[in-house]
Amino acid sequence: MSPKKYRTHQSIGFIGLGMMGSRMIGHLKGYAKELLIMDVDTVRAQEAATRANGRSVSSVNEMANADIVVLMLPNSKVVDSVVRGEQGKPGLIDLLSTGAMIIDMSSSTPSNTIENAALAAQKGLLYMDAPVSGGPTGAESGKLAIMAGGTEEDFLHAKPLLDRMGTNVILAGAVGSGHAVKALNNLLSATVLAATSEVFAAGEKFGLDPEVMQKIINASSGGSFATSHTWPKAILPKSYDFGFALALMHKDVGIGMSLIESTGIKTTLVNASAKMWDRALKASQPGADMTEITRQIQKEAGL
Ligand code: NAD
Repeated sequence: MSPKKYRTHQSIGFIGLGMMGSRMIGHLKGYAKELLIMDVDTVRAQEAATRANGRSVSSVNEMANADIVVLMLPNSKVVDSVVRGEQGKPGLIDLLSTGAMIIDMSSSTPSNTIENAALAAQKGLLYMDAPVSGGPTGAESGKLAIMAGGTEEDFLHAKPLLDRMGTNVILAGAVGSGHAVKALNNLLSATVLAATSEVFAAGEKFGLDPEVMQKIINASSGGSFATSHTWPKAILPKSYDFGFALALMHKDVGIGMSLIESTGIKTTLVNASAKMWDRALKASQPGADMTEITRQIQKEAGL
């Protein structure tokens, strides 16, 4: 096999400037000669362009000459529409030139990612997944954990760009592996959050002070990201605004569960957690934060 021809990092495209993308873009200021920014919400695109000293564009067509295009979009349905095109409109794979790379940093479905990578390869393009963990705080500080999927060679090509946005940039395996480990991580974290919510509700009903309980459990074997981050930030102050949408967590739980089903292994605990997240989403208002599940559990407990 002849060695791959990589393009430079001189022209970077970034699509999706929401809660995460709007913060990640700040770290790309001055990285490339050209930074092209796009979001269906043109106000967000413009604000990001100002922040990162880039240029906001109104369609993917204007990214045709980009060397690398980063995606930070809500889900695989949206990613696929941008990558493959829809309703007669071209997608990135129809527009980009040979050797250009698409890096999907969204939390997407691994099987869709593998399919997109195959379609991209047919056009001489490179495709990687590089989802993140660390939320808006990690995005703002440039300290995201980034779990990549792709070949070692492609990973080394992408790494200088990923290093601008994260501190823990790890190759998880072949393309799709980053999205797989991301979904499994969030399924685990969602299950721990649901369990912690039930345990804290029981403690409070017993008469324990939630702040005291948090201090003790966080320093003990039951401690987790939920007790170290979620409780102090969004549960103890009763703001229920951690900064990660319930709908996005529900999506990740669903991806994790379908991955588990595809392996054929039988699980019990995460199935119960997935049902809780289904119920929480149904009972919530659009735009609710993931900590809405805790509020609902507290309400059911009469707290
Ligand atoms: P978000 O909904 O805040 O942002 C998504 C952005 O994509 C929005 O600005 C939206 O206008 C834009 N968009 C939607 N469709 C588009 C299209 N067709 N073309 C261009 N732009 C389009 O979501 P977010 O919280 O920033 O999350 C982005 C991704 O990162 C998701 O996949 C999410 O699961 C993942 N993630 C989020 C967090 C978090 O804490 N928020 C943490 C880790 C991973």
